[in-house]
Amino acid sequence: MTDAPREIERLIELMARLPGLGPRSARRAVLMLLKKRGQVMAPLAQAMAEVALSARDCTVCGNIGTSDVCGICADQRRAVGQICVVADVADLWAMERGGAFKGRYHVLGGTLSALDGVGPEELRIPRLIARVAEEAVTEIILALNATVDGQTTAHYIADALEGAGVAVTSLAQGVPVGGELDYLDDGTIGAALRARKQF
Ligand SMILES: [Zn+2]
Repeated sequence: MTDAPREIERLIELMARLPGLGPRSARRAVLMLLKKRGQVMAPLAQAMAEVALSARDCTVCGNIGTSDVCGICADQRRAVGQICVVADVADLWAMERGGAFKGRYHVLGGTLSALDGVGPEELRIPRLIARVAEEAVTEIILALNATVDGQTTAHYIADALEGAGVAVTSLAQGVPVGGELDYLDDGTIGAALRARKQF
């Protein structure tokens, strides 16, 4: 707690919910914003208000953007035959930073987890299976974390697509056991993509 007015306390409480920020960092961040009201706080508040209204999930792949179909899905130059399956938008961003993949994506919105009660219907798995049937897909590249839940999800998708006439591959070396894509350097992701193997 601080001696700040209620509105400012509320701001600190909200900021403290951000990843990587605890109450202490949130207080420091809010204090900095208050000191730089004109240069940082007002433009930040305006940008957040705008994006809060315009942000939406791509109806095709689940990527977050500001239109119904995201920039990647709308990009005619990107190959249509390959779909790279990721758990989260952060993983899509990590793959894009690597710059090695020129196809399209499918964002599941998480991974299967019996413990947390996350089943296929809670994720965009039915939508992925529908895309394979609707689009001219030749390869599904599973770019899921090398964690138990990530690999459970990979196996589930591979089983679900058996007989669908697509190759199912997964990222190869370079992804450490227990590793998360978002923490890998760009070169490692590129190497893992190029050396992908039959799943
Ligand atoms: Zn999309």
